[in-house]
Amino acid sequence: MRVGKPVKALPQPLCDYCGAKAVFARAGDESYPYRDDHGPVWVCVPCQAWIGIHARSTRHVPLGRLADAALRDAKSRLHDALEPLVAGKVRRDGVNAFEARAKAIRWVSTELGFDPLPNSIHMLTPDQCEQALGYVEAFMAARRGG
Ligand SMILES: [Zn+2]
Repeated sequence: MRVGKPVKALPQPLCDYCGAKAVFARAGDESYPYRDDHGPVWVCVPCQAWIGIHARSTRHVPLGRLADAALRDAKSRLHDALEPLVAGKVRRDGVNAFEARAKAIRWVSTELGFDPLPNSIHMLTPDQCEQALGYVEAFMAARRGG
C-alpha cells in the first residue's frame, strides 16, 4: 500500500474470490453484468463478482470489494434489515439516508469489533455481512420487546 503518496494510476481492484484483476466495464461492454445501465463497475467475469464506483470519481475508485451473487444477496438483506433504523435516524436527526446508512454500518461494525472499520456496506466481507445481519436482527428483536 502506498497510502499518503499521490498515486496517479487508476486503481486496479482484485477479485477476492479468485485473485484475478477486475475489469472496468460500462453499460454495453461485453463484460458488463447488467442489461440496463447501472453505472460503471469493476467486474470479474468468471466469478460473476462486481462492484460499482464512487459517483463522480474520475479515477473509477471502487465502492468496496467485488461481490459475488451470495455477497450481493447478503448485502441486500443487511441493507433491508437496517432500513427501519436508517429511517428512524433520518426522522430524528434530519440526516440524509446515505449518511444514516453509513453511520448504521459503522455502528454495527464497531459493536462487532471489525478492524479496519468499514465506511460502507460494500467494504464488508461475506462473513462480516452475515455477522452484521445476525446482530441487527437480534437488536431489532430485542427492541420489539422480545
Ligand atoms: Zn474472480
